[in-house]
Amino acid sequence: MNPERSVVDLRSDTVTRPTAAMREAMLRAEVGDDVYGEDPTVRALEARLADELGFGAGLFVPSGTQSNLLALLTHCQRGEEYIAGQDAHCYRYEAGGAAVLGGIQPQPIPFAADGSLDLDQVAGVIKPDDPHFARTRLLCLENTQAGRALPLDYLDAAVAFAAERGLGLHLDGARLYNAAIACAVPARRVARGFDSVSVCLSKGLGAPVGSVLLGSEAFIGSARRWRKMLGGGLRQAGILAAAGLHALDHHVERLADDHARARRLADGLAALPVFEGRPPRCATSMVFLDLPGATRAAFARHLAGQGILIGGTGRLVLHLDVDDAGVERLLAAAAGFSA
Ligand SMILES: *Cc1c(COP(=O)(O)O)cnc(C)c1O
Repeated sequence: MNPERSVVDLRSDTVTRPTAAMREAMLRAEVGDDVYGEDPTVRALEARLADELGFGAGLFVPSGTQSNLLALLTHCQRGEEYIAGQDAHCYRYEAGGAAVLGGIQPQPIPFAADGSLDLDQVAGVIKPDDPHFARTRLLCLENTQAGRALPLDYLDAAVAFAAERGLGLHLDGARLYNAAIACAVPARRVARGFDSVSVCLSKGLGAPVGSVLLGSEAFIGSARRWRKMLGGGLRQAGILAAAGLHALDHHVERLADDHARARRLADGLAALPVFEGRPPRCATSMVFLDLPGATRAAFARHLAGQGILIGGTGRLVLHLDVDDAGVERLLAAAAGFSA
């Protein structure tokens, strides 16, 4: 394909397509019936992530949405509640699944500027033991949150807080590896102290399908039952898990390239007149444009005319299908835009 004609798609890191090497790994995967616990590749993926992140067990699931839902259903009973960010994926972007399917009430509070939940504010919404109230059971954090890697000392404070208040602690770590790379620590450090963690393989890691939920052996045992009930028990799923294993072997370190390209993109855009006084915000693999709605829409149309796609909200996400040339192509196209 003529590279000048190919599309540069920055709408999301979910748009990646499996590489030739990943497809090869999928082709060669040993498989069995995973509902019987007999798929060796799924078991290898679950065991590997459990070991790498410091948990007793793991569970391969079709999506991050299902992974978060299983966690909520396992932590909370009907009539209980979880505290999460107002813009948290597990509150805002999962179709209300916990409420619809579990009778679990969300208690959203705004995210702080660094993507954390202020622990004093969390303390303020924990309900007393009183028949008027739902029982507050769980605190959910997200890392990265809109690209922001939560500070390690904040994570420690949240772990201590949850223990002190008797709350379960779940991490939506859809982009956990981006956070680990940004903080220059092993992924296990970012997961430390949480009762459960959900990791997406199909975002920046570039697998076509799949997330893994991590927790204690007992926790994952309960989550497995919910997964079956929700129709997430897959049979010869090793063909998908093989893509996840390949991604963990080959696509983790390279997330640093996405972060560097996001920085380059943000700096390059900031130098253009249209962004004067309103530099784009950059966090790990993401760039967020701060433009008035109409200008943003015109900018997106201008880029689309040159085969470059960005998110409707002005979000640009780097991933393994966007290289340096793609970034330069976007900057060149952006330079030709006038508001
Ligand atoms: C994408 C995403 C999910 C859900 O993953 P799906 O596989 O799309 O269901 C959960 N949390 C966060 C933060 C995400 O970005």
